[in-house]
Parts: sequence; C-alpha cells; structure tokens
Amino acid sequence: MSANLASFLYLVSGILFILALRGLSHPTTSRQGNVYGMVGMAIAIGTTLLYATPSFGGFVLIVVGLAIGGGIGAVIAKRIAMTAMPQLVAAFHSLVGLAAVMVAAAALYAPESFGIGTLGAIHAQALVEMSLGVAIGAITFTGSVIAFLKLDGRMSGKPILLPMRHVVNAGLAIALVVLIVLLVTTQSTTIFWLIVAASLVLGVLIIIPIGGADMPVVVSMLNSYSGWAAAGIGFTLGNLALIITGALVGSSGAILSYIMCKGMNRSFISVILGGFGGETAAAADDDMDRTVKQGSADDAAYLMANAQKVIIVPGYGMAVAQAQHALRELADKLKEAGVEVKYAIHPVAGRMPGHMNVLLAEAQVPYDEVFELEDINSEFAQADVAYVIGANDVTNPAARDDKSSPIYGMPILDVDKARTCLFVKRSLGSGYAGIDNTLFYKDGTMMLLGDAKKMTEDIVKAMDH
Ligand code: NDP
Repeated sequence: MSANLASFLYLVSGILFILALRGLSHPTTSRQGNVYGMVGMAIAIGTTLLYATPSFGGFVLIVVGLAIGGGIGAVIAKRIAMTAMPQLVAAFHSLVGLAAVMVAAAALYAPESFGIGTLGAIHAQALVEMSLGVAIGAITFTGSVIAFLKLDGRMSGKPILLPMRHVVNAGLAIALVVLIVLLVTTQSTTIFWLIVAASLVLGVLIIIPIGGADMPVVVSMLNSYSGWAAAGIGFTLGNLALIITGALVGSSGAILSYIMCKGMNRSFISVILGGFGGETAAAADDDMDRTVKQGSADDAAYLMANAQKVIIVPGYGMAVAQAQHALRELADKLKEAGVEVKYAIHPVAGRMPGHMNVLLAEAQVPYDEVFELEDINSEFAQADVAYVIGANDVTNPAARDDKSSPIYGMPILDVDKARTCLFVKRSLGSGYAGIDNTLFYKDGTMMLLGDAKKMTEDIVKAMDH
C-alpha cells in the first residue's frame, strides 16, 4: 500500500472517529456513533497492517495478539456488570498507559525498527516525543490502577493525604523535566527508566489524595491522559491514525473533565491538587431531631397515585439493584393514572458520566422525559412527590447549606422542595462521599427502606390493588 493511500485511509478513519463522538453525544444517535467508531477502527487497523507489510511471522504474531486481546476484551465486556463499568474503564486506561511505556522502551532499544535513528543516535525530536509519551503513559498506568482500586472498593475511596504532598509532587514534576532534558542529551537507558519510575510514583501521588465526590473528574481526567499517551505512541510509531485518535480522546476527555468540574462547582486545579471530598464525614446537625419517618410500598403507592406531578431521581443504588425496568413500569402506571412523570439526572449520579442515562435508555424510558439538573431543578417546588431511588450524595442539602461539608458547593437536586420526598434505599447509611444526609430526618421525607428493585415492584403491585 502506498504512503498516500495509507494517509488517506487514516484520514477517513479520523473523520469516522469524529462522527462517532458526535453520535455518542446523544442517546438517539449513539448506536450509529458506535458503528462509525467500529468501522473507523477496522479501517485504521487494516491500513496499519497492510501499510506496515510485516514479515509472515510478524503478521501471524500480530493476528494472534489481536485475537487474544480482542477475545479477552469481548469476554470481559459481555460479562461485566453495569455497576462495575467505571472500574473496568479505569483498568482499560491503565493498559493504554502501560502500552505507551512499552512502545517507548521498544523504540529506545531498537530505534532502527521505528525509523528514528540508530542505537545511541536517536533523533532529538523522537526522543522528546518518546519521553513525553513514556511519562504520560506511566502516570496514566499507576493513576488508573489506583482509580480502579478505589472504584472497585479494594481501597478506601477516602482521600489519603500525605504530609507535604504538594511539595513532593512539585519536586517530582521538576525532576521529570530535568530527566527528560538529560535523556534527550545523553540517550541513557538508565535515565529512561528513572523517568518511568518518577512518573509511576507521580501517578500514585496524584490520585490517592482525590476522594469522595471528586472521583468522577478523576475518571474522565485519566481518560484524557490515556488519549495523550496514545498520541505519544502515535508519534513514536509515526502512525497518523493513532495521533488523531489519541488527540481526540485526549481533548474530549479534557473537555468532559471541565464539564464535570463545572457540574460539581469545583475548579479543575483544586481537584487535581486533591484532598477534597469525604475526609471529614460532615457532623450531622446535633440539634436536629433524628427521628425518621418510615413508610411502606402501600403508603408510597397511595401518595404517588394521588399526585399530579412525580419527579424520579435515580442514583447509584438503582444501578446496583438493576431497578430501571421496574421503575419504567411504575412510571407507565402513573402516566396511565394521569400523573405527570419526569426524570431528573444529576451530572455525577451513579459511578460514571452518563451512567443513569444509559440505564434509563436500556429500560426504554422516553428521552423527552429525562432532564438534566439545571433544566428541572426549579420544578421540584411544584412536584407532589420526588421519588429518590438509590440516590444519596446528589440530593444532600449539606452541599448547599453546610460550608464545612466536603461537598459544599456541589449543585444538588432540590428534592427537599417537593411536597413529599420518598427515599428508597436499604439503610440510613451514606453514599459514595461518606457523608451523612440530613434529608432522611426532615418532615417531608418518607424513607422506604429496602432494595430499590423490590420496593419499586411492590409499589407497582400496590397500585394494582
Ligand atoms: P451515592 O453513592 O451517593 O448513594 C447511593 C445510595 O444507593 C447509597 O447511599 C446506598 O444506600 C443506596 N443503595 C445501594 N444499593 C442499593 C440497592 N440495592 N437498593 C437501594 N438502594 C441502594 O449515589 P449518587 O448517585 O447519589 O451519587 C453518586 C456519587 O458517586 C457522588 O458522590 C459522585 O461524586 C460519586 N461518583 C460518581 C462518578 C460518576 O462519574 N458519576 C464516578 C465516581 C464516583 P444503602 O446502602 O443504604 O442502600
């Protein structure tokens, strides 16, 4: 295949990736977006294989590698529970980072194979690209491993605040810059591995102090890093498609991080510097009357059937219980009875961006009933019932009213403004950020303690009586 044809095909795949991103930005077009992405990736892989014209042995190795990697990926994707998706994404990001480190190492030890010079005489530009790629890759690798451990509950989600962490991080960042300059001037393999070591440590140190409600930003930030790491590999390999794809993932991840920061009312810098969220379980207001009004499915059915307007607020617990189908059934019943039903989605509800939208789409909830926080928040005051199903942090008034709370400043869904707030969860325990929710004890709140799916099914049954 000629270089011109390869470049053209890479450009086509790049355009398909852009169309994929565009398609994925709305539920109605997301399937088509996925198809564009798959076709683009097939073209990119096919072109790379044909253009690189590897030897027969090399070709076999690549195909076997593709089959093993693709096979494992397909099995994992099929088996993974929807609730474990965020940690899976974090785990996959770590692999992108690791791949960047490996490719950079290969390029350093066998530069001839990459057309970037000879051992000890690698072009300066390639060395700069390689060292940036390896640094970002190694940071992405350990950062993603820590994010995986936190999201999977194998490590406490609370921030770990080491003494003088900002000084240590700044020192490491400066050391990295010095090491990169040294690598470019000396081409020493020892310096290369020192860059890897410093970056691996930096990846851990950047992510461990981030906790509680700031994890969503971390997930999308690591997504962005993995894109830049891939772009770095693209430069080392001289592969246009990888550069385009990496840049697309890197910039879209950065934009998503920015949007999530805005949604959380956080500054990007303060999230990166870390240490927010969850470190001090907000002391519940001691003066408060801590009695809880508990209700049954029958009570809830009565309240909802007699309402004019019900706003449903799904959260992580709905995903755990897989209650979306039962919820849709409940909404259908209410609509049949002439009740207006809407869904309110908080930008960080669940454990990954868009988590709730995906689940509701799976249950075929009509898109025009689903609203973002800023579009629906003013409507709670006119709602008779807010049905909070497995959500907690995203409704916590401490974020609005308590300046000492670690989540202070995060916008919340104003469910307490509805006439009655029905809270479905299994206990009075806290959510991801580990903060007590004073809403449970308010007059207008009725706790429906139980599994989200079972409780919703019971309400549907009660409505039939
Ligand atoms: P929360 O984590 O605040 O609360 C979820 C609630 O669901 C828990 O309090 C739990 O209470 C309840 N629950 C769990 N299982 C069940 C079940 N089977 N049936 C009924 N209830 C159940 O969720 P939110 O969605 O309100 O908030 C998301 C939180 O996650 C935020 O703090 C956000 O920052 C964070 N986060 C978000 C990410 C994202 O990208 N969206 C990524 C990482 C973190 P109980 O145990 O009593 O049942």
